[in-house]
Amino acid sequence: MDQYAVFGNPIGHSKSPMIHTFFARQTAQNISYQAILAPTDGFDSAVTEFFQQGGKGCNVTVPFKEEAYRFADQLSPRAKIAGAVNTLKKLDDGGILGDNTDGEGLVQDLLLHGVRLQGKRVLLLGAGGAARGALLPLLDQNPAELVIANRTESKAHQLAELAKAYGPVSGCGYGEVKPEPVDIIINSTSASLSGDLPPIPAEVVSQDTVCYDMAYGQGDTAFVAWAKAQGSKYPLDGLGMLVAQAAESFAIWRGIKPGTKTVLGELRRNLGQR
Ligand code: NDP
Repeated sequence: MDQYAVFGNPIGHSKSPMIHTFFARQTAQNISYQAILAPTDGFDSAVTEFFQQGGKGCNVTVPFKEEAYRFADQLSPRAKIAGAVNTLKKLDDGGILGDNTDGEGLVQDLLLHGVRLQGKRVLLLGAGGAARGALLPLLDQNPAELVIANRTESKAHQLAELAKAYGPVSGCGYGEVKPEPVDIIINSTSASLSGDLPPIPAEVVSQDTVCYDMAYGQGDTAFVAWAKAQGSKYPLDGLGMLVAQAAESFAIWRGIKPGTKTVLGELRRNLGQR
């Protein structure tokens, strides 16, 4: 049985074992998938041991995504831009490939909800690891413009500079966000985790604006609740992104892409969302 795992600290909350076990059953793949708590200063040795003992691949979550980036022998272009890796795979020559499926998970979840990015005006809130991971997959969809707004304005500019070869991207602080409707707002800040909101003008939301929060939890996140209060008909949380990024990792490891709908429904029931 091929072995896979997720490394993080903490890791008890991780939904990845449930998701991948579900995918394996659905696609009739004979794999095991476990959650491994790595010491905060011991990621490299924990992962090295895992691969030495025959592990085929793993996911990597907080706080090890940057260490996984340095651990990999080869990097995908999207992992290079992200500066972070959430998926490691042992290659036939024994080397380790590092990839980042978070952004593709976001795009796939948007597509699953019928949201296309081509020709759209997109406002990306935040310039941390999740925003970096999303940049290339978002620009690959050919939006008309992608504005990155961040509390620390310099980080938004840096990120825009890094990605400008890939599409029409610019950076700004929240104060410079134009008070006019955009097509899609993606909240990649961790503000929702503390019930906060990035201070953007309410006018950016029309009833047709898709408002996507990468965060998720029981009930509405602060951003989803705000989007609903502004009249958006399309408020979405990040649970679908979580499942879709897992499906991308599974496909990298096993060469077969599982469906995401059923396991997403299962997770929503677990969270008491419906
Ligand atoms: P980082 O710590 O790398 O970045 C945090 C970002 O949030 C920064 O841009 C930071 O701004 C901003 N921020 C934090 N607090 C506030 C606040 N109170 N007001 C405004 N901005 C704030 O985190 P990640 O990028 O790794 O994660 C961000 C979010 O994305 C989390 O909620 C995480 O759970 C979610 N996520 C979801 C995934 C999924 O599969 N659904 C996958 C990955 C992440 P500044 O630069 O000024 O500090």
